[in-house]
Amino acid sequence: MLPPQCTRLASTPIRVLRERVAEDPDFLFEYIEEVYRVIERHEPQIRAYITLRPKEEVLGEAEALLKSGKLGPLGGALVALKDNISTRGIRTTCGSRMLESYVPPYDATVVSKIKESGGIIVGKTNMDEFAMGSTTENSAFYPTRNPWDYERVPGGSSGGSAAAVAACEATVALGSDTGGSIRLPASYTGTVGLKPTYGLVSRYGLVAYGSSLDQIGPIARCVEDAAIVLDVISGHDPRDSTSLRVEVGGFEKYVVDEPLKSYRVVVIEEMIGEGLDKEVAGVFSKVLKKLESRGLRVEYRSMPLLRYSLSAYYIIAMAEASSNLARYDGLRYGIQPEVEAVHWTDAYGRVRTAGFGYEVKRRILLGAYILSEGLYEGYYLKAAKVRRLLYEEFVRLFREYDLAVSPTSPTLPPRIGEVITDPIRLFSLDVNTTPINLAGLPALSVPGGLANGLPVGVQVFGPPLSEGPILNLARIIEVSRSE
Ligand code: GLN
Repeated sequence: MLPPQCTRLASTPIRVLRERVAEDPDFLFEYIEEVYRVIERHEPQIRAYITLRPKEEVLGEAEALLKSGKLGPLGGALVALKDNISTRGIRTTCGSRMLESYVPPYDATVVSKIKESGGIIVGKTNMDEFAMGSTTENSAFYPTRNPWDYERVPGGSSGGSAAAVAACEATVALGSDTGGSIRLPASYTGTVGLKPTYGLVSRYGLVAYGSSLDQIGPIARCVEDAAIVLDVISGHDPRDSTSLRVEVGGFEKYVVDEPLKSYRVVVIEEMIGEGLDKEVAGVFSKVLKKLESRGLRVEYRSMPLLRYSLSAYYIIAMAEASSNLARYDGLRYGIQPEVEAVHWTDAYGRVRTAGFGYEVKRRILLGAYILSEGLYEGYYLKAAKVRRLLYEEFVRLFREYDLAVSPTSPTLPPRIGEVITDPIRLFSLDVNTTPINLAGLPALSVPGGLANGLPVGVQVFGPPLSEGPILNLARIIEVSRSE
């Protein structure tokens, strides 16, 4: 499922790239030239990137890579990174004026791993400021357009990453997902987006939003590419204290066209309830029929507690954000405008007034309010209890079932300007993705088909560390789509 910007050469999957380059090293240069032709032609409209590396620099790195002979699992793939992932020597703005000219002195762990595995960084992608949003319209710079329809949003907050991959302006990308920011844009752009189990991928070098929820993950044009990238970026990292100590890897081998087990699949009724567009419902039920025709059993279960998860998510995310964003004071981090203030509170106030956008300010204020004395118990503590109960419900559910599926988003991609002024509508796009982050579960969005010419994503999720079976089921949805 590719939009019209893609050419055959520019849409080469990683495994094919790896094989072709091994046979004929010059193929890598041809491929890079073609991706940059697509970028030159379409990027002026799409605006997926904040910082794009010059072609000559990228070709130079490709040459060095070929000389080293260590093509690795990525084989010269062009990797786009969301602009909240730290890159040594490359500006990392977080979509914010506050970090407009910030150049990190170190690479995030995922970036080091990409480089060691034969990946070439192509650029840094647009995002909602500090990853707060669902449409990429909260970027301080400009909105990104959806390659399938330039009047529509690509989703957010990793909208630039998803648009770049969908339009073949990169081989794959990394995004971050606090409440759906990888899966929602994947759903709206017809790409595959995977949010790993909390702790599976290191957060070292990821600019924090809600630290107990944030995870980095791949956005790709096919399930196999997502698995290859997950193999590269996952694993224990002593620099992230929440990193899991588990043996991981071998995700690629789960990407096969037949179920590796007769998975018991569940649909949670609350995830297909009120607010679900009929176009989305149509695609989703076709996908379920295909799964059943392949001999998989699909059952329905109710989980009433899910009603509270969106509110619990926004309380916890804003509380953590208000604390995480305190460091942007113009001294440690952030812009340093001409300040003549005599008192530090004036200086602090001016830096933050000038550096942060409207949505970020609103969330810092709400987060501080939620955590204030006398209100903490009623908001934060209650949300934390909902989170715990939700986790326990999921544990019970996954004793009976192997995997669950749902629509990723209840709607088709909104038009630019359509939901951004209506926080309730905007927040409700995250209704099916946020419970996953609260419970720390892995989840993937895979295209289920088109409705009115627009992509519709299906979310596949499961218990902690079920990435293998999730990739397997997603692959089955991917192959049955074109049948
Ligand atoms: N839309 C959600 C929010 O604004 C999720 C964002 C994300 O996952 N980074 O918080």
